[in-house]
Formats: sequence, C-alpha cells, structure tokens
Amino acid sequence: MTDRVLEVRGLTAGYAGVPVVRGLDLHVAAGEVVALLGANGAGKTTTLLAVSGLVERQEGDVAVLGRSTTRLRPSSVARLGVAHVPEDRALFAGLTVRENIRLAAPGREHLRRALEFFPALGNLLNRRAGLLSGGEQQMLALARALVTGPRLLMVDEMSLGLAPVIVERLLPVIRRVADETGAGVLLVEQHVDLALGISDRAYVLNHGTLVAEGSAADLRGRTDLLTSSYFGGDTGDTDG
Ligand code: ATP
Repeated sequence: MTDRVLEVRGLTAGYAGVPVVRGLDLHVAAGEVVALLGANGAGKTTTLLAVSGLVERQEGDVAVLGRSTTRLRPSSVARLGVAHVPEDRALFAGLTVRENIRLAAPGREHLRRALEFFPALGNLLNRRAGLLSGGEQQMLALARALVTGPRLLMVDEMSLGLAPVIVERLLPVIRRVADETGAGVLLVEQHVDLALGISDRAYVLNHGTLVAEGSAADLRGRTDLLTSSYFGGDTGDTDG
C-alpha cells in the first residue's frame, strides 16, 4: 500500500454532471508502468484528467502518495508530484526548447536530467518548439514533465500522429523513467502491443467502466478481450 503513488477508488467523473467513467478502482505503484487501454471514447483521457483534478469528480477518491486529493486544486495535485502530459502536448510553440524546459523547472540540473533521457534535444535547445517534428515535440513534452521530478507521470496518447518507428523508440524511455527514477507511470496508448511491451500491468476500459485488469503478459494473450473492447463490444468480463 505504501508504495502506491496513485490509488483511485470508486471514481465516477465526467462533464456537466454527466458521468463518463464510473466506479473506477485502479492503482499505480512506484516504479511501475501501467497501461490504460480502451477504444476511442472509452474514458481514458477523462480518467487522467480526473486524477489531475481537471474534470469534475462526482464520486470516489483519488489518493496520491497516500494523500486524498479530493479537496485539492489541479495545481496542488501537481505539487504532490503528479506530472501530466496531455494529448496535445501543451508546449509553448513560440518558445525554444530550452525555454520550454526552463518554464517547467528552472536550473541547469533539471536541463541536464532532461537531456539524459532525451539526448537528441541537446542539439535542438535553441529551436522553437513549433518547428520541431512530432517526435521531437513529444520528447520535449515528456522532458518538461520529467524535470519536475514526478512521482506519478501520466502520459496521454504519446503516439498520436507519430510514426510507429518513433513510438518504438520513445516507449522504452518511459520504461527507463520508471526504472531509474522510481516514478509510477500511467500510460494511455493506442498502440496496445507496444504499450503492453513496456508495461507491468494494464487496465481495460470499455464505455467508462473497467472490464479487465491484469499483468501485461496476461493481457497480451487475451486478444479476444482487447479486440472486443476496442470495437466497443460487450466483453462480459469483469476481472480479467
Ligand atoms: P480518445 O482516445 O478518443 O481520446 P478516451 O478513451 O480518451 O478516447 P475520453 O476523451 O475520455 O475518451 O472521452 C470519453 C467520453 O467523454 C466521450 O464520449 C466524449 O465525447 C466525452 N467527453 C470528452 N470530453 C468532454 C467534454 N469536455 N465535455 C463533454 N463530454 C466530453
């Protein structure tokens, strides 16, 4: 229990009073990579936003490092050690790579740390973020999250718009982050096989509820379940 960086219990969350995800129970331990899988519209992004406190939580609790975040603003949740890389990457397009990193966390030491994980950014420090390739932008988005020293890193659709070969290069870095920094990672990813390849465990969401959970190795063998979830079918499976 103590090594859990994230513990979600009975979470119901949505927009304007309408629930999108219902009764979610999930957790992420320190040093663990956990994939959150499911079809478009299943509620993956909403789950991450609810953890960050950015969408309305209607029921349940989200604890970060054992502390309930129910009454906390998103900025306070972030200060507990939660870094969230959203789908749109949230970069300052007109600022350079160096400036983007400095705005996330000032200081040479932080920059050095970011470059340790993403050495390719070292040659791009003076380039405006808006002029980077998609893969470079994603590296920068991840670097901005890492320099804050997160205990929980949430990454939403890292691969959006990227060639699979780039995704194959970036995902192992996420594994390294968990292994080397001890951060827990919650990863939303459409490339299911690639995501399971670097994850310890995974949860599968279908129409806003969890329909399966298990070790990444187990879920890799359950293509029937994953396929029906991705095509919006009724899996009839509740505990994987
Ligand atoms: P995707 O891969 O398409 O992002 P997802 O699993 O992340 O899918 P969500 O983005 O969480 O799914 O969306 C879940 C549901 O919530 C969808 O039906 C969507 O239309 C709805 N939704 C998302 N954002 C809002 C919003 N701002 N206001 C109202 N409904 C929303």
